[in-house]
Amino acid sequence: MPYKNAKDKRKSNVRYRAAHPEQHRTRCRESKRKNRAEGVAFLGGVCANPDCEETENLHVDHIRREDKTSHRIWTWSRARRFAELAKCQLLCIYHHVEKTMAENRGEIPRWAFYR
Ligand SMILES: [Zn+2]
Repeated sequence: MPYKNAKDKRKSNVRYRAAHPEQHRTRCRESKRKNRAEGVAFLGGVCANPDCEETENLHVDHIRREDKTSHRIWTWSRARRFAELAKCQLLCIYHHVEKTMAENRGEIPRWAFYR
């Protein structure tokens, strides 16, 4: 049955979560996993460094760190999540560390803006 107002629906959701913590955690985990897989596919599924073929254990990197709002985006609404992902690229751990170190030294690697 639909709720007349959003406040009642929210109260009901809070009651459900309190009564079924395990189910709630499972659903959150599944939804985050699904959203992350969708985000990785959206970003191309491969390390953004043109010399790298890595497709496993990819990190989502903000291309320009000053554009970053948050890294905890997997629970956000679809529109908000994709707006944040549009500022990102995928990097393998090696190239993520390399880029971060270059940024921290005040250098920008040549492939930092590669899409
Ligand atoms: Zn790489």
